[in-house]
Amino acid sequence: MERISWHQYFMAQSHLLALRSTCTRLMVGASIVRDKRIIAGGYNGSISGGSHCSEDGCYLVDDHCARTIHAEVNAIIQCAKFGVATEGSEIYVTHFPCLNCCKAIIQAGIRKIYYAADYKNHPFAEELFRESGVSVEQVELEEMILDTNNKEKLAFTAELLGKLEKTGMPEKELQKMRNKANELFIHTS
Ligand SMILES: [Zn+2]
Ligand SMILES: [Zn+2]
Repeated sequence: MERISWHQYFMAQSHLLALRSTCTRLMVGASIVRDKRIIAGGYNGSISGGSHCSEDGCYLVDDHCARTIHAEVNAIIQCAKFGVATEGSEIYVTHFPCLNCCKAIIQAGIRKIYYAADYKNHPFAEELFRESGVSVEQVELEEMILDTNNKEKLAFTAELLGKLEKTGMPEKELQKMRNKANELFIHTS
């Protein structure tokens, strides 16, 4: 049995949260961690009870969605709402934080940022993190832990199998490949 690392565990949590995003422009998730415990989580979404971008479309102002509260800020606000200290904590985010989130993170006393994917990394955000001594480290989610593009892989494999069929490959071999694909994509055990 192989245990997953703390990094992978917390990053996987943020990727799960990202799946709850309601803004269609970018699905982001963030988890705030202190002493190896998740103290808060957030994703890109509207205010509670507000209309969702996924239903009513984004409210664009200067090419930014004004409706959305970013995942990092949502997680920090959750701490404010329930009175949980963020001082000295760490944050795991699926994407490099934008400038506004960068400032909120620094101001909340979060000391370490782990992000999975680069995203329009703003040089001023990088500078502010450096100046304030917040460490920034990229931690990519290992595919094995949470397969985030399973549907695409399935579609691609189906297309490949369809093309193989047209090449005149013997039915017996084709069947073997179909069986293998089924085994990989459909977990029935
Ligand atoms: Zn939006
Ligand atoms: Zn942001």
